[in-house]
Amino acid sequence: MEQNAQDYRNKDVSGKGPAGRASVWPHFPVFRSRKAEVETLKAALALRGEALAGARHALEEYAARFSGLAEETQRQIQAQTASNAALAAFEQRVAELGREREAALARLVSLEASNGQLLSDRDAFLERNRAYEAALTQAERTLADIRQVWGLISEAADVILWDCVIPSMQLTLSDSFYRMLGYDREADAITWEIWRGLVHPDDRVQVNRLYHDHLIGRTDRNAAEYRLRRKDGEYRWFSASAKIAYNPDGSVQRYAGVLSDITDRKHQEAIIATLAYYDNLTGLPNRTHLLSLLEARLAGSENGGALLLLDLDNFKTVNDAFGHAFGDRLLQTVAARLAHLCESEALRVSHEGAVVTRFGGDEFMVVLEKRPEYPHPYEVADRILRILRDPICLDGRSVYLSCSIGLTMFPEDGVRADLLLKNADTALSRAKTAGRKCRVAYDTDMGVEAATRMEMEEALRGAIRNNELALVFQPQADLATRRITGYEALLRWNSRIYGNVPPDRFIPMAEECGVIHEIGHWVIRETCRFAALIPESWRGGLCVSINVSPLQFIEDGLLEKIRDAIRSFGIPSSMIAVEITETMLMENFDGIVGCLQALRADGCHIYLDDFGTGYSSLNYLKNLPIDVLKIDKSFVQDVMVHPTERKLLRAIIGMAHSLRLKVVAEGVETEAQRTFLLQARCNYMQGYLFSRPLPQDDARALLDHG
Ligand code: C2E
Ligand code: MG
Ligand code: MG
Repeated sequence: MEQNAQDYRNKDVSGKGPAGRASVWPHFPVFRSRKAEVETLKAALALRGEALAGARHALEEYAARFSGLAEETQRQIQAQTASNAALAAFEQRVAELGREREAALARLVSLEASNGQLLSDRDAFLERNRAYEAALTQAERTLADIRQVWGLISEAADVILWDCVIPSMQLTLSDSFYRMLGYDREADAITWEIWRGLVHPDDRVQVNRLYHDHLIGRTDRNAAEYRLRRKDGEYRWFSASAKIAYNPDGSVQRYAGVLSDITDRKHQEAIIATLAYYDNLTGLPNRTHLLSLLEARLAGSENGGALLLLDLDNFKTVNDAFGHAFGDRLLQTVAARLAHLCESEALRVSHEGAVVTRFGGDEFMVVLEKRPEYPHPYEVADRILRILRDPICLDGRSVYLSCSIGLTMFPEDGVRADLLLKNADTALSRAKTAGRKCRVAYDTDMGVEAATRMEMEEALRGAIRNNELALVFQPQADLATRRITGYEALLRWNSRIYGNVPPDRFIPMAEECGVIHEIGHWVIRETCRFAALIPESWRGGLCVSINVSPLQFIEDGLLEKIRDAIRSFGIPSSMIAVEITETMLMENFDGIVGCLQALRADGCHIYLDDFGTGYSSLNYLKNLPIDVLKIDKSFVQDVMVHPTERKLLRAIIGMAHSLRLKVVAEGVETEAQRTFLLQARCNYMQGYLFSRPLPQDDARALLDHG
């Protein structure tokens, strides 16, 4: 438009152009009149006016045209401008669309790429899925196989197989479980909890403890025996073996195991245990049982306790005299008395507090628990001594028994069963040595003595072989005339190790270790040898007495041994007397009496020794085949101190005479004693007053002076 307008201004608006104006001006002479000039000017002006008018007109035309043009142009410009803006907008839009297209293309490319990935993933997935399905099918087949094998194994081995997956606690049980315990797989859903609930309440603590031990790795596998409840309520015993499998991270993966029914075995074991742990004869727990019980007590007792080992002092004699059947019943009676005592309310001991066991032979052991409310073990021991002193009446016979008790306490004296048993035995030996019928508690010094004692026993066994034994003879004399009436053969042991050991010490030992039989036989023969050397002139009224151990009556052949010795030394039977004690008679009346009667029939004499120390019952004297009553030295000595005892002694002597028995007073040491005894019409005396026991030559020499 600007350009157009410029072009238009430069155009010749006169309509004649520049060449026309130049041609006008040369026709006006400079000097012509003014009028001419004016005319000329006027003409020129007119011309000019015309020109101007023309120009104006042209200009107006032009202007009009221009104005139209301008408007047109303006319009065109406006249109152009609008069109330019639209174009720009369009171009911008096109550019935007281009970009969007680019982006869309890029997205398309990327989508195509991811689509490709997806497709390949899908293929891989399908591939994997196919593999999984194959594996699953295989696994299912394997599982079915395993189930079948489980079934076969469990049936073949007659066991229950079980498996519990942890932590889901999913329990799998073999069919045999349902068969053996009477449950139904469909109807009875046995979960882990139910399964645990089937364990016998008494076994649960043990089961849990063993499981825990296995869980923490204390055991390689969990082996246990426990009871499971059948559906019908019956409990069956099972031997269980189980193992835990762990995940790599250490957590528990599963717990699986096997169970086999051992109910029959358990019943057999119970029978065997009864046989093995209980004494057939008395029904009491036996030594084996005692040992396990003791071990348990030692491990679990907070209060401690005591062991009372008791031995019947005279059972062997009774057994031998009346026969084993009688002896057995006697032991049963003793067992019943002990059991009753331990269970009695009077003892205030609960069943667990005191257990009586038969330790073997005629030995019983009482295990006592120490508690403030229970009686002291000494008190229990004293009660036992008392209840066994009451005569036992069997088959119309009254048998008098007694016992010795050795006590040991735990934990004071030891905490090992074997040690405690040894202690109790040592204390028991001490009780026997102390004269039996008593209780002795162990003290530590005895341990040392026991060792010595064993050595001493060994030495005693060799005493005869080593010529360490000797007999001394203590004369007995008529109280009135002081004439020798006989001798008592008294044994001496002069040990090369222990020196002179008193008979009160070594004879009980010889009895315990059994060497008494050999020694007793030796005494019989040596006494007869001594008697054989007594001058003929003395033989008629002189008698040599032999002390006989009750155990010698047990051994068959005592009678024969005496007869044999008498025969081989060629002496009259009347020269030999046998000394027995009241206690021996109490223990084995019939057994001893038969032998004594036979001896008496042979012409031997029977002396009842130590009268006054035992029961001192005169009632039974009339039924005994005895000739002489020997009043014990302690009695004789007491008599001089207590006036009342004198009356009693007189009465005894009187009664003995009424039974046609002669009376020997032992331990006469003083003239006063002799005088009193003489007045009391005692027949003979034996004691230091007249003579101490003498070696055989010296003893025989006395006769030369008598
Ligand atoms: P016992 O049969 O009562 O023998 C009498 C004991 O009294 C003897 O003691 C004797 O030495 C002792 N005695 C004698 N007179 C007196 C006295 O006046 N005063 C005192 N205080 N004591 C006197 P021993 O020899 O020590 O014998 C003790 C016991 O040993 C005997 O008692 C007897 O039971 C037993 N014994 C001795 N020898 C034998 C034997 O060969 N076989 C058996 N089984 N036992 C025997
Ligand atoms: Mg004697
Ligand atoms: Mg005596």
